[in-house]
Amino acid sequence: MTTNRTPLIAGNWKMNGAETESVALARAVAEGAPGGCELLVCPPAVLIPPVAAVLKGSGVAVGGQDCHFAEGGAHTGDIAAAMLADVGCSHVILGHSERRADHGESDELVRSKTEAAHAAGLVAIVCVGETLAERDGGETLARISSQIEGSLPAAATAENTVIAYEPVWAIGTGRTASPADVEEVHTHIRGDIERRFGAGVAGGIRILYGGSMKPSNAVELLAINGVDGGLIGGASLKAEEFLTIARSCS
Ligand code: PEP
Repeated sequence: MTTNRTPLIAGNWKMNGAETESVALARAVAEGAPGGCELLVCPPAVLIPPVAAVLKGSGVAVGGQDCHFAEGGAHTGDIAAAMLADVGCSHVILGHSERRADHGESDELVRSKTEAAHAAGLVAIVCVGETLAERDGGETLARISSQIEGSLPAAATAENTVIAYEPVWAIGTGRTASPADVEEVHTHIRGDIERRFGAGVAGGIRILYGGSMKPSNAVELLAINGVDGGLIGGASLKAEEFLTIARSCS
């Protein structure tokens, strides 16, 4: 990665952990954080306050895993973007394939959530990715383009938005896309961004790879042209694995 984009290594803890172990995990990440990349952890919502407290001043950022598109009101069980910001979040993951699948989230909904995140001052990490059927059907690039078009609001910038390319079939499966496939999709995404938002945004926006990134494959994946970091699920739950991936950035 020889660009002026600072790599971002983001951990998606999903629905895992309890307070004591999560605080210990966050503390270990902060103590071992290497230079050369930005680090972010995204705990389950109820664990954000204790994790944010232990990470305060450490340089390791905290993010949510979802937010509602509305500012507040009658949305039982949901969390507003401003609430995440209020408890110390700087980022929020949106449109993760598990939310698209489990909660039927559409590109339009992801776009409105992204707008809400921006309005609250959060950086939105917008996830896109094809299913195995779409890849096998030769529809990968078209699918990615329509997700990018539908999920990103007009006001997206390199500062308020990060894109995560996560092939659905590579998440939690141990399978990763080949370096050539990852480079093709990242180049394609950056081209889409350039056509819609201009060369400045395309040159500055970070595009992460996600899908079974682990210590044994991180050096290869993070070295791919156009890959500006990783969104990491399983391997972010062990501090040493997450930190080994982070050290692979340099
Ligand atoms: C993810 O959930 O965003 C992810 C990439 O998970 P994993 O690393 O476990 O494949």
